[in-house]
Amino acid sequence: MNKTEPLFPSLTKTPWHLKNIDNVLSTLQSREDGLSSEEVKERQEHFGLNTLPSRNIPTIGSIILHQILNPLIFILIAALAASVIIGEMADGIFILVVIVLNTAIGAYQEYNAEQSAASLQKMVKGFAKVFRAGRRGTAAAEDLVPGDMVLLETGDKIPADIRLLEARNLEVDESMLTGESVAIEKHAEALTSDVITAERRNMAFAGSTVMAGRAKGVVVATGMQTQIGIIAKSVAGSESAKPPLVQRMEKFTRQIGLIIIVLSVLIGFVLRQQGMDIMGIFFFVIALTVSAIPEGLPVSLTVVLSIASKRMSKRNVIVRQLNAVESLGSCTVIASDKTGTLTVNQQTAKRILLPNDLLIQVTGEGYNGNGILINTQNEALNDGELEAIRPLIRTALLANEGQLFQEGNEWVHRGDAMDVALLGLGIKAGKDPQNFRDDYQPENEIPYESELKYSAAFFSKGDTVFIAAKGAVETILEFCHHMYADGQELPIDRSKIEAQTKELASQGYRVLAFAGARCPHVKKDGQYNMNDLCNLNFYGLVGFIDPLRPEAVEAVKTCKEAGIKVIMITGDHPTTSKAIAADLHLSDVEEDVVTGQMLEEAGTPEDKAFEDLVLSTHVFARVSPTQKLEIVDVLIRRGEFVAVTGDGVNDTPALRRANIGVAMGSGTDAAREVGSMIVVDDNFASIVSGVEEGRFAYANVRKVIYLLISSGVAEVMLFVITILAGIFLGIEWGLPLLAPQILWLNLVTNGIQDKALAFEAGEKGVMQMPPRKTTEKIFNKLMIQHLLFSGLTMAVMCFGVWFYLTQILLMEERSARNIVLLLMVLLQNIHVFNCRSETTSAFRIPLHKNYLVLGAVIMAQGIHIASMHIPFMQNLLQAEPVSAQVWAMCLALSLMLLIVVESFKFARRRFKA
Ligand code: ADP
Ligand code: MG
Repeated sequence: MNKTEPLFPSLTKTPWHLKNIDNVLSTLQSREDGLSSEEVKERQEHFGLNTLPSRNIPTIGSIILHQILNPLIFILIAALAASVIIGEMADGIFILVVIVLNTAIGAYQEYNAEQSAASLQKMVKGFAKVFRAGRRGTAAAEDLVPGDMVLLETGDKIPADIRLLEARNLEVDESMLTGESVAIEKHAEALTSDVITAERRNMAFAGSTVMAGRAKGVVVATGMQTQIGIIAKSVAGSESAKPPLVQRMEKFTRQIGLIIIVLSVLIGFVLRQQGMDIMGIFFFVIALTVSAIPEGLPVSLTVVLSIASKRMSKRNVIVRQLNAVESLGSCTVIASDKTGTLTVNQQTAKRILLPNDLLIQVTGEGYNGNGILINTQNEALNDGELEAIRPLIRTALLANEGQLFQEGNEWVHRGDAMDVALLGLGIKAGKDPQNFRDDYQPENEIPYESELKYSAAFFSKGDTVFIAAKGAVETILEFCHHMYADGQELPIDRSKIEAQTKELASQGYRVLAFAGARCPHVKKDGQYNMNDLCNLNFYGLVGFIDPLRPEAVEAVKTCKEAGIKVIMITGDHPTTSKAIAADLHLSDVEEDVVTGQMLEEAGTPEDKAFEDLVLSTHVFARVSPTQKLEIVDVLIRRGEFVAVTGDGVNDTPALRRANIGVAMGSGTDAAREVGSMIVVDDNFASIVSGVEEGRFAYANVRKVIYLLISSGVAEVMLFVITILAGIFLGIEWGLPLLAPQILWLNLVTNGIQDKALAFEAGEKGVMQMPPRKTTEKIFNKLMIQHLLFSGLTMAVMCFGVWFYLTQILLMEERSARNIVLLLMVLLQNIHVFNCRSETTSAFRIPLHKNYLVLGAVIMAQGIHIASMHIPFMQNLLQAEPVSAQVWAMCLALSLMLLIVVESFKFARRRFKA
């Protein structure tokens, strides 16, 4: 039994940075090849999860408080107090019930939205590359335990506090801990004197990010025991970021509240002048205020957005910031990566082209070693040909961080797609990568970074040092003086090699160049570096095929119809990029590819020439991450609303700058952390689905607003008409609806219905319209027309009924009110169907797209009918049962609203556009 007991108390106090590696490992009872799964389990029980308390979920208490701090509630409390003072107990109780219910429902919904947002966040939790039981694999970052062996690569977020055992050119950004954002170089040697945390160069701390290099290390502290955990204890709690739309609506609600209060007081004053009694005025003011404030709006919008983000997650888009849901619909440009996003990133080496023009074809597809090499006569390679490609194959296997091997019948691959593809090539050429590499002693390596566009490795074998370099042709050529052809070192013929590259690239191959050298071993203690990459021999080119994602072509077409420009920004060769862009039909006209070099020559992003260049094309090749940022900058300055994809650490500035930063699911932690959304499957088509869902969401927001605000407009107009009619016709009457009844309408019956609108599927044609302007207001002309039309219609109908019942049938006001209330509920029921679209006829939107609407209407009506029969509710609502005949007549009347709104939609379609 391994006793982990004594480890625990010393974790945070042990000076890991001062110990040598053997000592560190023995203290942690760990080994270079990692813990066994039993040990991991045992330690997990002991140390718990490697997590920090999450900060962003507000507590129930703060949610409730937020619900109460709301002008509506203040008004209701005032009304409650007034009712009690004047002895209207029933009203008082009702208002109290409404306050409690409204707070409870609002808090529940807000809590739900927060929870589902939090559970979506969980889907994007981090992973760590670990060595356990002698095998390399991945583990959820939260499952790490002290003693775990962890591998680190560029872009990784460091998952726990780690003592480094090996570090190659490792640079780490520790700004999370220190506030200092320069990358800090790290090494694996034990320190000789104690220093402050920030100076512990052989430690990597949880929460920081690997900016460059590779490393291996052992976990020394997890969770709250890490340095960041210790800090987190003292900075717990921070408020949740509401989406701006909801914030705007909360503000809007508050503003309306204030305006209405002022206005009501003024109106009250006028009424008083007219000789109306104080009580009457009081109830009028309360009723008006309650009807005009869209109390249910902020909560309903939160619900719409959170439902939309759930729907997006089903389509592989995870929204990290709810505001991305609404803003996605405004997207006018998608700037996409090529490899992995538009293509499947299933690289397969298909061609080898040597400087002596020997062309070799490679059969087979995908990440495996199944295939052979054949020459142009379709024959297996002869000895001479095998000899000719030997240096290239050696380089491909050595300058390689990947793994590809067979486990039973399965091929297992790890690492970079290009590297794995090259291992596949090596196997097809008859070499077992593992055995092959075992013959060489690694000296140093320069890992691939997209900024470098190459990778290199230094190995020794006996007295010889082998240099192996691979990468973009231009980069590799810079290191070369000679080319190796027909067994000889010849002076290099750059123009020939460039022509060969073009030839392969124009057929859509991604081209890598290979170069190397074998030179006498000079002991440098692993200090070989970039400066040794000179005077290399050029060995040849390999062409890779990376098929387009089958859905990408269709998705690009959808974007075009939706008025969204798709541009491709890639680090790849211009000719390859052009061939792929052509297959995708990115542009309708013949355009030149713009390269990073052309951008550089065009000056700074502020220059006109630079701008023109950016706007002239759909394809940018050989672009550096900095230039990617500059391109995005120009587009945003030109008024575009830009979504940008990215995966690497160096993409983070562009992701931040973009209106919508789209991080790739397979991307680095660094990118996923700054993206406002994450595309789980890396697929371009998913981004387009996200845009579509974003447009649906925005449309649903409008539907909810339409429904809620038009009811408010109707109620306000009804009061105004009644008061004016009373004054002009000299009728002494009360109001057609009382404050509790209005609360009932706004919060209960409509409250049920508006949630159903959040589930509306998108209308047809949503993706055939141009993107919405970001400056477009929700209350645009169309919305205002709708609100006035439908509001006025409802108000006039209710007034007509009120007038007819009280003045002609001379019915008692209480019973007349009961009927007006029923009519209002029915009108709302009918109106939901109107609200399903602002432009399309309600009859053309199939019910089966959202049965919830029907359910909600039945439920709202059902609850109301029930309240007319339940004594307790009768009392509160001043309601009473009506005959089936009256009910049917009200229904028939409310159908008029459907006709009016349908006519409006029809007229609009007819006379506009
Ligand atoms: P993309 O924009 O298509 O994702 P990258 O930035 O990944 O392109 O790659 C840019 C260039 O870097 C490639 O065209 C290739 O020449 C080179 N390259 C890519 N991967 C590797 C690798 N693993 N090793 C060496 N060079 C590479
Ligand atoms: Mg890339």
